[in-house]
Amino acid sequence: MRILITGGAGFIGSFLAEYLLKKGHQVIALDNLSTGRLSNIRNIYKSKNLEVHVDTIFNRELIDHLVKDCDQVYHLAAAVGVRFIVDNPVLTIETNVAGTEIMIKFANKYKKKIFIASTSELYGKSNSLPFKEGIDRIYGSTNIRRWSYAESKAVDEFLALAYWHEKKLPVVIGRLFNTIGPRQTGQYGMVVPRFVQQALLDHPITVYGDGKQSRCFAYVGDVVDALVKLMEDDKSVGQIYNIGSDKEITIFDLAKKVKKLTNSSSTIKLIPYNEAYEEGFEDMNRRVPDISKIKKAIGFEPKVPLDEILKEIIEYYKK
Ligand code: UDP
Repeated sequence: MRILITGGAGFIGSFLAEYLLKKGHQVIALDNLSTGRLSNIRNIYKSKNLEVHVDTIFNRELIDHLVKDCDQVYHLAAAVGVRFIVDNPVLTIETNVAGTEIMIKFANKYKKKIFIASTSELYGKSNSLPFKEGIDRIYGSTNIRRWSYAESKAVDEFLALAYWHEKKLPVVIGRLFNTIGPRQTGQYGMVVPRFVQQALLDHPITVYGDGKQSRCFAYVGDVVDALVKLMEDDKSVGQIYNIGSDKEITIFDLAKKVKKLTNSSSTIKLIPYNEAYEEGFEDMNRRVPDISKIKKAIGFEPKVPLDEILKEIIEYYKK
């Protein structure tokens, strides 16, 4: 198959491109390099089955041509990372709403199956743990820029589902929980690459808030495998799936683990959210997915344990 990946030079997109090439597909990677990097696709750059376009999803003429010419679309291009979102709210909303609208419109024009990358952020401040796909979403005020990301992704989900119901566009929605691995950068806020780099440099490890908030971290390879299996499965059309690990760890324990695995002499420093992000910043206390739906659909099981993922990331950053 010929498969278009928007955000194909991003962290997850580059692993997806590699995975699809290995399966014998042709891959078209589109990326505007806002948070993606060509170095992410260094390993596959010379593959004759890879076509790379450095351009944006707002180039309608190009999108028309690329979508027409492919069999499936993975739409991963988006503004990502809490730091990036708080600093770039206009770009976040415009990319995630207007950009996704363009991708869905052209997918519909040619009736190409499209994967929409959504997010665990969508559950917001909900306390109904573990999060099942159908629960209510709870967001804070529009004054708090962080929520623009969840809200914009919720609009994407509404639009994708609307196209499925009204126009029979085959869409698959995946809500990605915290996904980690080599190539992820800490520049846009993501906690694991930040902690690993701080620990390797013996700089203070910056835990925001009291560190009691928790997350579940999944290996990028497990996540990519799930995306492809969902897209290969006819029954996943018109459905929403949580994708991620359900093994929970507090951010303070994560900091201790990274310190230990790197043999670092770093201190662990607590930083108030107001200082770290923005006045009035709201974090999620716990974020745990219910993954029974995706388990039933494709037999999904997060395979790589956290310690192993961290060791791989540490090796990556040492190099
Ligand atoms: N975090 C932290 N120190 C950092 C970066 C992030 O303590 O240097 C915290 C952040 O406040 C959140 C968690 O780590 O509670 C996960 O943050 P990340 O931005 O990776 O993902 P999120 O789950 O918030 O989307």
